[in-house]
Parts: sequence; structure tokens; C-alpha cells
Amino acid sequence: MIINTRACISINNRCNLDCLYCHFHTPEKSVYIKKSDMNIFIVLDNIINHIEKYNIPVFKLGFVGNGEPLLDYASLREYIIYIGDYIADGRISAYTITNATLLNAEMLEFFRDYKINAGFSIDGIPEIHNRYRCNTHDTVMNAVEMFRIINGHYPAMNCTVSRDTISRTEETIAFFERFGSRVTFSRMIGKNGITLAEFRKFLDKAESTLNVRRGGYDCTMYGGMCGAGINNIFYADGKAYICGNCIDLPATADYDTPLDMITPDIPTFDRNKCFREIYRGDKY
Ligand code: SF4
Ligand code: SF4
Repeated sequence: MIINTRACISINNRCNLDCLYCHFHTPEKSVYIKKSDMNIFIVLDNIINHIEKYNIPVFKLGFVGNGEPLLDYASLREYIIYIGDYIADGRISAYTITNATLLNAEMLEFFRDYKINAGFSIDGIPEIHNRYRCNTHDTVMNAVEMFRIINGHYPAMNCTVSRDTISRTEETIAFFERFGSRVTFSRMIGKNGITLAEFRKFLDKAESTLNVRRGGYDCTMYGGMCGAGINNIFYADGKAYICGNCIDLPATADYDTPLDMITPDIPTFDRNKCFREIYRGDKY
């Protein structure tokens, strides 16, 4: 049996932005994103029970999903406090990803005190970021600076790589070099999207000077191999899914199922490819 050691929880399904490429809020997916009840404390209890049952040294937990988590900061704060002892002991490594438009100093101090790794979504140079992410580059850069003042270093960053990024590869890499922080690039799919081969070529170049996240069995969207059904669970809308991009595929379980009972039935496939694309027959 494969033991799950990672999970992401989508604490909400709403966002204050409307990014051009957002694949959570496409008309196609919006029919799957519903506001259904999901008691996140039950998910957290199940994760804690799972950690104890299997003596897992570090369980990686992301408060990330179909929306902007800071729109529900009061709830997010409660969830983090609830698992605070496990985070303090290093048994849960928790993170969130934000569009950084709602951040304030109190939130950043709370994340610092509770060892929450808050990653910022920023698509590099202003001309590209502003085009896709609702003209928010200045706002995000102000938040980046506020983070540095509070933490003494720059935040981890997440950048979506589009056809425009590829055409300005050097400038994009130079933009991130100044921060010295870890960058997770993700491949844009759909309109203005790029192929996996183009994305991997970009990553090869970027990692010659940047600290680039490039996992093993994780996700082809982030430059790794597809980890669908291996050891990760994505919670959203009262269900458990194989990954955050697969909410339009059949759910694997209800959200309150114990983690060791969530066993997705994934056929053998080439994990250099995206299971969702294979399943749906999509071509990006
Ligand atoms: S910030 Fe994220 S969730 Fe919100 S619209 Fe942009 S890509 Fe979508
Ligand atoms: S199915 Fe696709 S989007 Fe989901 S983890 Fe695999 S590669 Fe990533």
C-alpha cells in the first residue's frame, strides 16, 4: 500500500482576481466547482490520525486550491492554529499560495510565527504579469517587499510560463534572479499555453541560475512527472481528487474518508505525461 504523505486543501472556491489563464474558473470547470459543505477540521483530524498511525515524519500540507485562500483568512488562521503543534514539531510542513493582493503585515507575521511557507504568484516582468494577472504587478511587488521586511528574506514565488514568457525567457529569468528565493514555474495550458517540451527547455535554462523547484512524482505542470494517485490528495467541494487540476474527473472519495482508505484506481501510464490529458484526450 502506498502511504499518502501530501495533501492540498482548497478552503474556498472564490477569488478576487480573474486571471486570463485561470484554469480553476473556466466556464468548463465552473460547473464542477460548487459551494458544498466541507468541514476542514475533519480533514485535519484525519491527517493527524494518519500521521500518527503510520508514524509519518513529515506530512506536506498545502492550503491551496480553487481560489484565493486569503479571502477566507479568518478561517485559514483557525485551521493553522488547530494543527499548530504538529507544525511546530515539524511533523506537518504547511504552505499556502496567494495572489498577494490581500496580504497585510498581521497576516505575514502570523505566517512567520506559525512557520507557514507563503508562496507568491508572480509571473515575472510587469508586461507579462499585468497582461495575465489583472494589472497587479505593483501590488504584488509591494507585498514582496513587506514580506522581506518581516521575514528577512524574499518569499518563494510561483510563475506561470506562457508563450509570452518563452519569448522573453532571458528577462524573466533575470527578474527572478534578484530575489534569490525558490521559484516554482508552472506550465500554462489551454489558449496561450505551451507544450511540455517547450516548458522543459525553459526550465533547463532557468535552473542554471535560479533555485527552481523540479520534483519527481509531482506534476508535469511543475516540471516533474505526473504523481496522480501516488501519494497526494486534493480536497475540494466535499470530495477528494487525484490533483487540483482534476476536479472535472471522477472524485476518488468523500472528503471525510480516512486517508488510507483513499486509493485511486489509476491505470499504468507514462508518468512523463499528464494523466488528465490522457484521460480526457486533451491536447495542449
Ligand atoms: S489568482 Fe489564482 S485562482 Fe485567482 S483568478 Fe488568478 S489564477 Fe485563478
Ligand atoms: S494529472 Fe496532470 S495536472 Fe494532475 S498531477 Fe498529473 S500531470 Fe499534474
